[in-house]
Amino acid sequence: MPELRRDPVTGRWLIVATDRALRPADFARERVVTKGQGFCPFCPGHESRTPPEVLAYRPTGGPNQPGWTLRVVPDKFPALRVEGDLERHGEGIYDRMNGIGAHEVVIESPEHQLTMSNLPEKRVEDVFWAFRDRIQDLKKDHRLRYILVFKNHGEAAGATLEHPHSQLIALPIIPKRVVEEMEGSRRYYELRERCVYCDMLRQEADTGTRVVLETDHFLAICPYAARFPFEVWILPRRHRSHFEQADIPTIENLGWLMRAVLRKIDKVLEQPPFNFNLHTAPVQEPEMPHYHWHLELIPKLTRVAGFEWGSGFYINPTPPEEAAKHLREAGLL
Ligand code: ZN
Ligand code: ZN
Repeated sequence: MPELRRDPVTGRWLIVATDRALRPADFARERVVTKGQGFCPFCPGHESRTPPEVLAYRPTGGPNQPGWTLRVVPDKFPALRVEGDLERHGEGIYDRMNGIGAHEVVIESPEHQLTMSNLPEKRVEDVFWAFRDRIQDLKKDHRLRYILVFKNHGEAAGATLEHPHSQLIALPIIPKRVVEEMEGSRRYYELRERCVYCDMLRQEADTGTRVVLETDHFLAICPYAARFPFEVWILPRRHRSHFEQADIPTIENLGWLMRAVLRKIDKVLEQPPFNFNLHTAPVQEPEMPHYHWHLELIPKLTRVAGFEWGSGFYINPTPPEEAAKHLREAGLL
């Protein structure tokens, strides 16, 4: 019997197929292979082909020169721009405003052929330090209300360049998905006076069936109401609403954990394309007792089709309990 499950935060329902659960080998996926063909603007020596860097970690060399291990540059074709005023207009029933914002690319490594799962551990950690540094800088601009941090890995997941990179888009509004999470977690808090994510951490650690990996600082789980097969959430044990307020040991551990989870996914699903998104509180808001930052990682194994577009709810062909078991049993790689 298929099962309907409800997400405790957003209230979103989804269908988990339990009768003929798909196993890793059942997905027709495109393995991400680095071809290394053609000109790459992110490779060392090509620094002049990107806008000037806004942040770099470099043991040697000067700004916009080789010697870096990580660089952050504005996107050459930004979705939004920093310059100008945030003018709001109404056109009858329609609302619009100027496309103010920022769009930055984190070039995660000078090596073109490496991926986040085979970068040295410290360098994966540095990616998270870069997210934190950039969020802390961008939030000084009070027009920017939300900073979306994400990664597209592999063409099927939306990556247009294969050089390892992730992105930040700072927005003058708070996205609807984020508002839903904020409101859902607030409702839960008002009712029970506890953070829903802290409760989730406790329950999942006790049950264990959906746990992928545990450390002193994090729990990686396949969530109960997973929308996608092999969806993984990485939850920090320490309650904080804002990622950029996370303490040093937490961020240090995130590098190791992220790499370990990605290695499991690479092994079980044979280097699939994936996306991850940092879920964190709006930057201009103070610390919240009801919201808890976390990371959501989704291997790209299925396509969103008519049913999902029409209903806003998903059919997940692999129960999260089974996905977690496959990932757990992959061991530490
Ligand atoms: Zn490159
Ligand atoms: Zn919490």
